[in-house]
Amino acid sequence: MTNIPSIQQQVTNSNLTDDELYVMKHKGTERPFTSPFLEHETKPGFVGKYTCKNCDTLLYESSTMFDSGCGWPSFHTSAKGNLYPDIPNGHEIKGKSGKIGLKDNNIIQYVDNSLGMQRIEVCCLNCDSHLGHIFKGEGWEKILGKGKNDRYCINGISLNFKEEN
Ligand SMILES: [Zn+2]
Repeated sequence: MTNIPSIQQQVTNSNLTDDELYVMKHKGTERPFTSPFLEHETKPGFVGKYTCKNCDTLLYESSTMFDSGCGWPSFHTSAKGNLYPDIPNGHEIKGKSGKIGLKDNNIIQYVDNSLGMQRIEVCCLNCDSHLGHIFKGEGWEKILGKGKNDRYCINGISLNFKEEN
């Protein structure tokens, strides 16, 4: 049996608001079309990085954001991360709760069978905070280009944005 490595770190930001805790800790969903980050998708000039609001780990770059029209900030690719560099992307890793997921840069992907359907949940690899879900096979590659077929549907409330000029 393969020994599956575990996430060791856990960072808790006690400054999170009730709304942030509802999404990040209790896996809730923010109301669609409420995130101020949706403006970034259609207005040029927003260059920067999105980090975990709980632990500030780098999660996404603005260059991978796109306007999916779904009501939540959308990204096609996770940011290149430096957490657990010995574990390749796509490899199994055990989250803080003991649940096994797949490493995806600084993100961990879990199978989520809630709400009577199978989805893939994405969480911060550092602190296991809930970020949103990833949807595959929607055909975005035809619009966005080769290799850009995934849609990370992310609660903006789970993210910090740091603008870069
Ligand atoms: Zn985090």
